[in-house]
Amino acid sequence: MLTKDTAICISAVDYSETSQIVTFFARAAGKISAIAKGSKRPKSAFDGTIEIFSYGKIVFSDSNKEKLATLTEFEFAYGSAGFTGLSNNLFTMNCCLFSAELLNKFTHDYDPHPQLFDDFLQFLQNSQEGNKKTEMLALLILFQLSLLKEVGLRPVLNACVNCKTRYEGRKTRDEIYFSSSANGLICRDCEGAFPDRIRLTETAADCLANLKLIAESQEKTLIEIETVLVHHFTELLGRKPKMAKYILTL
Ligand SMILES: [Zn+2]
Repeated sequence: MLTKDTAICISAVDYSETSQIVTFFARAAGKISAIAKGSKRPKSAFDGTIEIFSYGKIVFSDSNKEKLATLTEFEFAYGSAGFTGLSNNLFTMNCCLFSAELLNKFTHDYDPHPQLFDDFLQFLQNSQEGNKKTEMLALLILFQLSLLKEVGLRPVLNACVNCKTRYEGRKTRDEIYFSSSANGLICRDCEGAFPDRIRLTETAADCLANLKLIAESQEKTLIEIETVLVHHFTELLGRKPKMAKYILTL
């Protein structure tokens, strides 16, 4: 059976002289891995070699979901090569590669997440517009939080996970922590029960409790938040994501 979908490539590796194994995040189907036979030939059923972040319409056969699907058509959206502008800026490219790595790790084959697809597409579009480092960090953090939400791991960021005291209602200057095992913020009264807690600055906690502040945050706050998120992803995955070291270089 042939299936049509709209998809973004999140991984592409050479399989032979002329073929590739590609992983797409598809809007309706979810994540699929397929063999693209002959995709590296000058003339093929595809609009040229498929690269990471190639975006467009795909047709694939998925007769047996235990095996690789076969990609039968790929047509770039807008007749372009996709998000080619991303490679103009190394930090931007690394943020996008990090997002693709997380998307790949946190989704399952044939598990559809159309909202996450839309968020990822928007993230790539925003990233392509020549962003500064602070803007890229803000985009990355917001995408990572929407990824966690869409895969059912949304952290609690507006209250203490343990005692439910709302962040807004806390006493000023109270210490606030993030705990990966609790999946959210932990207040001063509860922190003793969560040995994995990380103390947050008030600015970073404010941003997490009110995500609208992230877009206007300073680089050091964004790096603090990203450091906490990388720690959290590491705990969730059982090992550090490969691309993390290219984002947190300090
Ligand atoms: Zn508490």
